[in-house]
Amino acid sequence: MAIPAQYQEPADAAARRAVPPVTVYTLDKLPDFDRSFYETVRRDMTLVDTVVVPPRDARAFEVPAGHLFRIRNNEGTQVGDLNLWNADDLSERFYSGKTRALHATHISTGDRLWSNFPRFRPMATITHDTLDWYGFDEFGAGVHDVIGTRCDPYTNHMLTGTDYNYCCHSTLTRALAAAKGLPLAEAETHVHDVVNVFMCTGYTRDTNEYFMKASPARPGDFIELFAEINLLAALSTCPGGDCGAGHSSDTAPCFPIHIEVYKPQEEHLKGWQPTPSNSYGGGNNAD
Ligand SMILES: [Zn+2]
Repeated sequence: MAIPAQYQEPADAAARRAVPPVTVYTLDKLPDFDRSFYETVRRDMTLVDTVVVPPRDARAFEVPAGHLFRIRNNEGTQVGDLNLWNADDLSERFYSGKTRALHATHISTGDRLWSNFPRFRPMATITHDTLDWYGFDEFGAGVHDVIGTRCDPYTNHMLTGTDYNYCCHSTLTRALAAAKGLPLAEAETHVHDVVNVFMCTGYTRDTNEYFMKASPARPGDFIELFAEINLLAALSTCPGGDCGAGHSSDTAPCFPIHIEVYKPQEEHLKGWQPTPSNSYGGGNNAD
């Protein structure tokens, strides 16, 4: 809050605060994370594509349904911002808020990346994460956040009065425009809230403000995802580098991020199907 509270606590404030929380969603109703299936799929897979995202830039790449992709921190500690679309329909895209509500503020192995309404389905499943040891630290921070959005030139201009064109929002826009042959203004409307891959963030304990700290990622760390549908992805290399100090400027050391796309052995995918769309058929009608 920007100003001190204007209202006095009621006499029973302590009792009201002591009400125990309940988890909002019944996670045991989510589609099961079949660990043995995903562990089998990632055995003996074939590298079919590699993409290197240069520093302070972004690249788009496709991942067919049933393939996997790794985002690698090979050369130095570097945060990446990930966008996902249905490769066949850009109107279906990653839904950060619902992913956060269903899983957690930070995601790791076994969590899904959900798409927006009305299809609302897992677009990808995290199958491996070499940073899963981090958990949550003494500040409440975790890795791979879905609580931040992406650094952008509008917020930067509002706060600093300067124009900076290498924010993740802008590089993601340019990468999508190049991949789909779209004008920048149209591509921008498809860029959405991201998974902040490798980024270490949390909310301050006292005021619940968003904070970041230097990513714990080391060379060789990677996160791996299984494409549940045909994906178009875009990944930016944040101008904040490890995001230990700032972003939206050219001051932080930045490094490339390596992306690898893998095709599993066909027999390991027997019986597997791309995720169907959500089957709610009510059309938001009142009756
Ligand atoms: Zn950024």
